[in-house]
Amino acid sequence: MTTTLGFHLLRIGHCSHPECVTQRGGRLGNVPFPALAGLLLHPRLGPMLFDTGYSEAFFTATQPFPERLYRLVTPVSLTASETLPAQLERHGLALHDIGHVFLSHLHADHIAGIGELPNARFFAMRDEVDAMRRVSRIGGLRRGYLRTLLPASFDARLTCADDCERVALPPAMHPFTHGFDLLGDASVLGVPLPGHTPGQLGILFQTANAQTVFLVADACWSLEAVRHDRPPSWIASRLFSDKGAYLRTFAGLRHLLGRNDALTIVPSHCELTWRRLGHELR
Ligand SMILES: [Zn+2]
Repeated sequence: MTTTLGFHLLRIGHCSHPECVTQRGGRLGNVPFPALAGLLLHPRLGPMLFDTGYSEAFFTATQPFPERLYRLVTPVSLTASETLPAQLERHGLALHDIGHVFLSHLHADHIAGIGELPNARFFAMRDEVDAMRRVSRIGGLRRGYLRTLLPASFDARLTCADDCERVALPPAMHPFTHGFDLLGDASVLGVPLPGHTPGQLGILFQTANAQTVFLVADACWSLEAVRHDRPPSWIASRLFSDKGAYLRTFAGLRHLLGRNDALTIVPSHCELTWRRLGHELR
């Protein structure tokens, strides 16, 4: 029988961007861009996270120049009730309770909190980790990477997702065909989502109420944009590692969306998804 997981959506800070940058044909005005993370409750292995959102470490890392430019381009808000410790406390958990963190990719708004998690193992795609290691301080900044966010023990605590057993995904997930059995019990499947960065990873799992949840990180920035086939503007897509691959992944999500009522797709920065699921699941 499939292992089912508890799932809660966390909102760990936000920034804002002009809508016309986040989707073609969007308005000029700013739209909220929440940093969402997933809290997964595994019956045997305990609480886990998918990404961490922002943290105080983000502000420390972007204090000096040139890193401060990151903060100036995307002004970030992180209120006391939005921090990871505050969000976990609502579920009766503390930072040291988290044993596994699935990192979709290493952009600062997804990993800023990993240094606060003393007992976590990290999972990420090899190409993503290699890409971050290869870049210079300035080159990293241009790509959204802040290397000082990685704890010194990162390498020792890392499992490359692509070293886990490769498994076929169910036909209902077409055109996403394969994933990696991250925990060895088929409860959490890592799914490559190419294009946004060199090694973006989504995860797929089942909840106790028979929903299949697909956390897709930055493969799209809102479900509305997918529904109306509005990928990010050329300005934003210039930051992507492979624009063609991004558009293929985006089209794959469009194919999935609405075809299967039991599938919940969760992008990391979708305000409407937060409004729908952040309360429903709490
Ligand atoms: Zn990103």
